[in-house]
Amino acid sequence: MTDSANRASALNSPRGRNGADATPAVNGAGGPPRAAGPGGRSAPLPRVPVRAILDTLAATYPEAGTALRFGNPFELLVATILSAQCTDKRVNLVTPDLFARFPTSEAMAEAGEAAIAPLIASCGLYRSKARNIAAACRALVEHHAGQVPDRMEALIALPGVGRKTANVVLSNAFAVPAIAVDTHVFRVANRLGLARGRTPEQVEAQLRRRVPRAHWSQAHHWLIWHGRQVCHARTPACAGCVLLAHCAEGRRRRGAAPREPGRGRRRPQGQTAPKG
Ligand code: SF4
Repeated sequence: MTDSANRASALNSPRGRNGADATPAVNGAGGPPRAAGPGGRSAPLPRVPVRAILDTLAATYPEAGTALRFGNPFELLVATILSAQCTDKRVNLVTPDLFARFPTSEAMAEAGEAAIAPLIASCGLYRSKARNIAAACRALVEHHAGQVPDRMEALIALPGVGRKTANVVLSNAFAVPAIAVDTHVFRVANRLGLARGRTPEQVEAQLRRRVPRAHWSQAHHWLIWHGRQVCHARTPACAGCVLLAHCAEGRRRRGAAPREPGRGRRRPQGQTAPKG
């Protein structure tokens, strides 16, 4: 059985990876999880068929994974910093030459911002990215013997590295279950009712409670692929969406469900969708 088939099979199984029923891990014990509201109050998240949604995504995107090309954690860290507000395809065009010139954090730190910038100039925000990459590499040399750490706290202490980048590195370079919330994950998770977060951090926390831990990393990829291919930001292709039957937002857009209170109107004050 392939990895993807194993993933789909695991989700379809009534029991989780460790033999325990996965349902409590999906929906939590004693009712649905609650979303943080204004002033710290919490409201219950919508009751949605989490397992059916994940099963459908697993079957629809069996090969979902990162498109960034990398050979080690250092390369993935740099590629992920470069990918902010830039396509993975563009990043993959610049990294081969960049890594050939500066193959280690030590070499990248020594080269500095001025030498890095021309090599990544076709990526957006390249000056600030060059500055962050050089600073992050100096921090790796000074504090981690040139190696990329495999802990969240150490990763987000690096210049230019936030939770999203750290989760991508943990998940793809170290096989640590993690859910990185980019603009696609944020949008699709909120539309499906898997989350009701105003910030990427809230959405990440809600997804971590609803999705079985064994599937965190793949769920991140499934939601990204669905966002890129079907659930587009401006005009989601709800009519042909495999999740339409499970998606109140999609049915509302198709005129078959009422608007959920507080949904689909102007973004509430303080709500910040992630960039890139
Ligand atoms: S039905 Fe529409 S809104 Fe819902 S997930 Fe599919 S494309 Fe997105």
